[in-house]
Amino acid sequence: MVTAFREAVVDLGAIRANVAHLRAVVGTPHLMAVVKANAYGHGALPVARAALAAGADWLGVADAAEALQLRTGGIDSPILAWLHDPDVDFAPAISQDIDLGLSSQRQLRQAADAAATLGRAASVQIKLETGLNRNGVAESDWAEVFALAAGYERAGLLRVRGLFSHLSNASPADDAEAIVRFERGVRLAADAGLSPSLIHLASTAAALRLPAARFNMVRIGIGLYGLSPFEDQSSHELGLIPAMTLRGRVAAVRRVAAGAGVSYDYLWRAPEDGNLALVPLGYADGVPRQASGAASVRIGASTHPIVGRIAMDQFVVDVGQGDVAVGDTVVLFGDPATGAPSATDWADAAGTINYEIVTRIGHRVPRSYLDPERSAPAEEEG
Ligand SMILES: *Cc1c(COP(=O)(O)O)cnc(C)c1O
Repeated sequence: MVTAFREAVVDLGAIRANVAHLRAVVGTPHLMAVVKANAYGHGALPVARAALAAGADWLGVADAAEALQLRTGGIDSPILAWLHDPDVDFAPAISQDIDLGLSSQRQLRQAADAAATLGRAASVQIKLETGLNRNGVAESDWAEVFALAAGYERAGLLRVRGLFSHLSNASPADDAEAIVRFERGVRLAADAGLSPSLIHLASTAAALRLPAARFNMVRIGIGLYGLSPFEDQSSHELGLIPAMTLRGRVAAVRRVAAGAGVSYDYLWRAPEDGNLALVPLGYADGVPRQASGAASVRIGASTHPIVGRIAMDQFVVDVGQGDVAVGDTVVLFGDPATGAPSATDWADAAGTINYEIVTRIGHRVPRSYLDPERSAPAEEEG
């Protein structure tokens, strides 16, 4: 496959392998593949299809619009959406069989009202606040919310299919406390007459390290993409394969003399005569400007440092006396098993996390797909 000017190549075989591996390691009856934010930048539809083909049985997204886009794309699996506009109309989501993650009495009422208009019950999952302090029903309101939900169930407006929460990953003690609180909520819901079939708390980190948080479903985001949620364990050590390779082609090569300044503000000057390669990706494409002078790229069999400021559309690499030509493939990050830097290396260089590196890849970078189950690369999709 000829490298495009700039492209993010997503290996759907890696997505499938990661789902299969995580299913085997985690062992829960259900696994939700989290494909919010355009599947962390990888492309929601192709990733959703690959994850379902590999055994994920739920998809998770943040908002209802993301869920409806999956339906429009032909995905008919169960989908949960959990973050809603204050004035949301849940009717489109309910009529498309989207499960609603609900965090307040207001949302419960909105779901029941929409269900009444449609003349059919909404399938909902109640989110409990257990220490993260984002959304989720506060413990002091659990009894009231469960009673309200039970009433709506009896009226045929709602069906409470699940209870869930989300961990802070702040410390083992904090997570243990959250699990205890969550279990208290699960018991209280049963006392209120609810009988949710899905109980879920863990995202990738807890799914891997905290068996007590697995219950009967885990919600896997970052692990699906083959990236590690941990600082002290790499993808490879977790048995995961990074799915995205961000790459482009050398747009220009220039020889400079010792002392020449490079890119805005001359953050870097050539210490000796040498060669520079121009790479046509910049912060508009999600290459973090904070990684100026700190990250490296792979060209052929060598790794070269980025020098000077990363600009909106481009950055410069010091290839020293190396032999680099216009048109050569430059890999910004990919699977380190290939010798390329990882998304985590970029995150370290930019002072952020690998989640942000892949999620922020810009619109100008076309996604293309490798699909080892087909003979030719899959067609590019949104
Ligand atoms: C994003 C998200 C996840 C996935 O988290 P990862 O760390 O990427 O596995 C799971 N649950 C909720 C509620 C989320 O918002």
